[in-house]
Amino acid sequence: MTESDLSQFVFISAVISCGVLWVLESVLPFFQNRHSRYQHALVNVSVATLNALISSAMTAGALVVLSYIRPHWQGLKGLIENPFLASAVLVVCFDLWAYIWHRLNHAVPLLWRFHRFHHADAEMDVTTGFRFHPLEIMLSEIFRLPVLALLGMGSFEILLYNLLSFPIILMHHSNVALPIWLDRMLSYLVPSPNVHRLHHSANPAESNMNFGSMFSVWDRVFGSLIWRENLNALRLGVEVREV
Ligand SMILES: [Zn+2]
Repeated sequence: MTESDLSQFVFISAVISCGVLWVLESVLPFFQNRHSRYQHALVNVSVATLNALISSAMTAGALVVLSYIRPHWQGLKGLIENPFLASAVLVVCFDLWAYIWHRLNHAVPLLWRFHRFHHADAEMDVTTGFRFHPLEIMLSEIFRLPVLALLGMGSFEILLYNLLSFPIILMHHSNVALPIWLDRMLSYLVPSPNVHRLHHSANPAESNMNFGSMFSVWDRVFGSLIWRENLNALRLGVEVREV
């Protein structure tokens, strides 16, 4: 499979995931009586389009930098002979970085200023999975560059991570009411909608937990996982707080 094929797969799988989750949100909504879903989606998709342009341009620049580093340093990838195992290890390690970066976005006041834009969406649905402040996207691109170099990641591994993580990220932002047993089962592997709903709670004691992007294991390992049922009265959004 070429990188161009993989790039198309990433786009197609994100669009299909979005479409399926949008339909499920219509027939099985967790929070009922949402108003102006289309208007809400228009804002988030507009922001996502701008972010996709920024991210593509900055990732292209990062790949040029990485191409200069690669002849001298192959990173973790260079230590693993089997290419399938190398890709798997890199995807898992990069997800650990996604967890650390997300945690930093809550802990560092400057980063929180931008990340709170994502949390300010009080009517969270699948489109919230795209809604990030453009400056958060830029900072994320800059800070992940040393991580990409350390791991030896190139465009293939970045696309592979996006292919696997985007449907999960869209799923856990969605307003779909999964049966609680299914949500609980999912939460052992990935952040389930219930788990991530708590992360979007207006209560900082809850929103400063459940940072996982693709795998939930990091929250278990680092003690930042919370779980509770009956979230029907949960208030989403951002509480005014000093940062
Ligand atoms: Zn967050």
